[in-house]
Amino acid sequence: MYKVFIDPGHNHDGADTGAAGFGLKEQDISVLIAQKLRPMLEKNGFSVKMSRENINDNVASGLSASLSKRAEEANDWGADIFASIHCNAANTKAYGCETYCVSRSGKAGKLAEAVQKHMPEETGRRDRGVKTANFAVLTRTSMPAILVETAFIDNYDDNKFLGTESGREKCAAAICKGICEYFGTEYKNESEDELMSKEYDELKAKNDSQDKIIGEIGIDIQNNKNEIDGIKNTLKRYDYVDENMPAWAVPAITKLVTKGYLMGDENGRLNLTEDQLRLYTVNDRAGLYGE
Ligand SMILES: [Zn+2]
Repeated sequence: MYKVFIDPGHNHDGADTGAAGFGLKEQDISVLIAQKLRPMLEKNGFSVKMSRENINDNVASGLSASLSKRAEEANDWGADIFASIHCNAANTKAYGCETYCVSRSGKAGKLAEAVQKHMPEETGRRDRGVKTANFAVLTRTSMPAILVETAFIDNYDDNKFLGTESGREKCAAAICKGICEYFGTEYKNESEDELMSKEYDELKAKNDSQDKIIGEIGIDIQNNKNEIDGIKNTLKRYDYVDENMPAWAVPAITKLVTKGYLMGDENGRLNLTEDQLRLYTVNDRAGLYGE
């Protein structure tokens, strides 16, 4: 399992606090983004350690100690990569995202390129590219290390973006996608459980629709059967006075045959429909055919 050390930039107070703009503080935004990034990385199978877990955390009281301690923690833990999260600040006019590494050649450069590729795509911020700098956290770490300047906290539009939860989530997703790309693993944004339940829902929906079709076919078959039975009934003929003939029709038909009123065909087959049986029976009961 690859180990990713996340370093939310700056301290809550004292030395090494960050930039600010429109009521937002860089040291808070860096933690809020990291708090979104951590579970994303974990869902993607990475082991994560952070230099600051919460907004109120300070890494160390002095500036130099604060910077070296972040690198030392990552080195001691044996992290595979190090990513520091920051917000930029300049003259309120500059805007966009950029990613720093010590050198563009080598693994840190490759990691910086991978993350920076996803940053503008995911966040919609202006692409300021990969840059090099000898920041302490980049030179004192012993693994490929990058520093992501997510957006400008003192620029109005970038600040509004950083101030929203969805904006910070997009920053986290971009960094996670870049890290996955660097390690050559496929980015997943859903947990196993979510994937399982999605698969289950899809299967269930498929099954339900098949059941519905089977149900509809069943109704069709029953309708066809009723129709055929209906046709059979209307086509049914009574040829002889026997056990097939309804008992209620037997006296009238027997009388008609006996008296020679009904003779049937050359073989003596009467070929009577049920309607005819009813008619003869009613007439007989009315006395039309005598005693
Ligand atoms: Zn910073």
